[in-house]
Amino acid sequence: MGLEQYQGDMNMCCRCSCCKFIPMQKVMGPQFSYACPSIAKYNFHAYSGGGRLNIASAMLKNGFNYTDKLLHVVYNCQLCGACQVSCNYAMDMEVLEPITEFRFKCVEDGKTSPALDKAVARLRKTGSMLEASGRRGDWAKDLNLKDATKEKVDILYHAGCLSSYDKDAQKLAKTTAQVLQKAGVNFGILGDAEMCCGSRAYQMGYRDDFLKQAEKYMALIRKTGARTLVTGCADGYHAFKVLYDKFNFKKDLEVLHTSELFARLIKEGKLKPRRKVNLAVTYHDPCRLGRLGEPYIHWQGKKIPGDKFVFDPPKPYRRGTNGVYYPPRDVIKSLPGIKFTEMTRIMEYSWCCGAGGGVNESNPEFSIWAAKERVREAIATGAEAIVSTCPWCEQNFSTAIKEMNSSLKVYDIVELVARAI
Ligand code: SF4
Ligand code: SF4
Repeated sequence: MGLEQYQGDMNMCCRCSCCKFIPMQKVMGPQFSYACPSIAKYNFHAYSGGGRLNIASAMLKNGFNYTDKLLHVVYNCQLCGACQVSCNYAMDMEVLEPITEFRFKCVEDGKTSPALDKAVARLRKTGSMLEASGRRGDWAKDLNLKDATKEKVDILYHAGCLSSYDKDAQKLAKTTAQVLQKAGVNFGILGDAEMCCGSRAYQMGYRDDFLKQAEKYMALIRKTGARTLVTGCADGYHAFKVLYDKFNFKKDLEVLHTSELFARLIKEGKLKPRRKVNLAVTYHDPCRLGRLGEPYIHWQGKKIPGDKFVFDPPKPYRRGTNGVYYPPRDVIKSLPGIKFTEMTRIMEYSWCCGAGGGVNESNPEFSIWAAKERVREAIATGAEAIVSTCPWCEQNFSTAIKEMNSSLKVYDIVELVARAI
């Protein structure tokens, strides 16, 4: 059905522009009131969630006339879902799904971005979108971890492409493994056999590549017999928890983010943060752990014909309220010596780090522009450091901080936990 199935949702758009900002009730002042990085940067209605729906709707009716400008609009969107949350504060309609379908349609019609084409070609050839040197499992050398392809483990740790191949991000995978070892968790890894979850291919619009990855990877995960998968990557979390469920690959696999597992281990007394981490921090909710990380809702029903867009039974909407918000905060607050302050835009209203939706690959300048906005928001809290729970966010913030000559530090939550234990 593709984009056509959302014609009704697109017709519902009343061009109120609420999807550009966090809901009015949450606005604290003139600064940090935007929700959508794309409209904040390009300042023209087409670059908002609603604008994209208006264009897609018009094209469904009048035919698809692809221009360079149109493709600039399509690919300069992080698919962060902030528009969906703000729109759904007052409306019941899909926003992110049709925007994503619009991108799928562009890819299907061969109207792609050269940078994204290149990344996906690399995925098809090497199994990763990253320009990788070395082997996927190199990060785990000398750590003496269980190989889940050979040994039975309770928990499978998925490091993800960035934490496997990127020399800076490898510290996250290593530190996570060391913390889990210390807590006595029976976990294993797939090492060189680990695969790309396919999340970024999906975000870039290459649905078929995502589906192939998901099918292959789930077959391997199932073979290990592990009942739980843990990852520290928000993209990976969203793929396993939400997309694999949406496309019926996940079945009964339990999917946890490392922050959820750490919160559980701290509660059970298996991790004991005792050492002081004297640091004033704030926390960034990654889009795909927060608002987009809430469970997928399978719904079947029918549309009631007529002027109004009504379903039987009523259709539930994912408004971002059930994302992973409290476990990371609980973990941070449990660390002795930490001073924690929230930013203005938090939880489902969080501002995107800029790295998602293929923007990091196709328009790095815009990607870092968005990260700088978040860094300014973090600095405004008086924090010395911004803590995140995704290597993509950490990488983007690190680049932004460097370009801004700021003294703000950026940490993944696992680094702080490791310091405290
Ligand atoms: S998508 Fe929703 S919030 Fe945005 S303009 Fe349309 S109705 Fe308003
Ligand atoms: S998904 Fe994010 S970047 Fe794209 S239109 Fe919505 S709010 Fe803007």
